[in-house]
Amino acid sequence: MLELNLYYLILFFGLGACIGSFVNASAYRLVRGQDWIFTKSKCFACNKKLTFLQNIPIFGYLRYFGNSKCCASQIPIRYLLVEFAFAIIFISHLMVFGGYLTVVYLPFICILSIIFLTDMEAFHIPDIASIGGTAIGLIFVIYKFPSLPNTTESLIAGGLGFFTIYFINLIYRILRGKNGIGFGDAKLMLMLGIWMGVENILVILFIASFLGTLLGISYVIYYSKLDISFSAINNKNILELELPFGCFLVCAALIDHFFNVTNHLYNIYL
Ligand SMILES: [Zn+2]
Repeated sequence: MLELNLYYLILFFGLGACIGSFVNASAYRLVRGQDWIFTKSKCFACNKKLTFLQNIPIFGYLRYFGNSKCCASQIPIRYLLVEFAFAIIFISHLMVFGGYLTVVYLPFICILSIIFLTDMEAFHIPDIASIGGTAIGLIFVIYKFPSLPNTTESLIAGGLGFFTIYFINLIYRILRGKNGIGFGDAKLMLMLGIWMGVENILVILFIASFLGTLLGISYVIYYSKLDISFSAINNKNILELELPFGCFLVCAALIDHFFNVTNHLYNIYL
């Protein structure tokens, strides 16, 4: 475990918040079909170009108490939350894995965070994120970056991840006559397999399904307590309840990565 003094802690917190700001903006633009890297930062409400001070993550939000300087519109709290959360994730990764592995895994964590946000907002996992993440992972694996699986295992895991979701969806489609899990989730599993390996991909799928089920059940219990008929919620029947499964896969992958869940499980049971 890496110890950071206060000076480095503040420095890396700021750096993490900046990367978080980029992640948030990229996800926001991808959902709206804009250029996700080179679009100039503009006010989300009046489209006016943002000043340097307004662009500083967290500070830019807090300085005017969550209002934009140009037109005093309320900035969505999402900006602050994502920047703050990413800064915490970044510092935690640095302390747990050290500088070298943090640089190796930074693209992985950024892309997963973007996928989390786009899937959460629009039930959409952009190819540029999942396929791009797969390509970066493959390059890292081929060049034998530390702590990644070897090339053969990586390819097998990617295929396994992709086709597991593909076949689950196929069965769902035969039974219900429509897609259950999106094709985007299959491509996300491809990316996770490439980066994480065979054993991890199975554990990730298990954790994600567990989290999804837990949230689904909580949702049902919450609304039954409130005595609201399910059909009243967005005109949806409870069987039509849709959850962004990609978000659960991302959380599961990060939990597995940070807490080394797969290794612990295999050490206990094998
Ligand atoms: Zn404005």
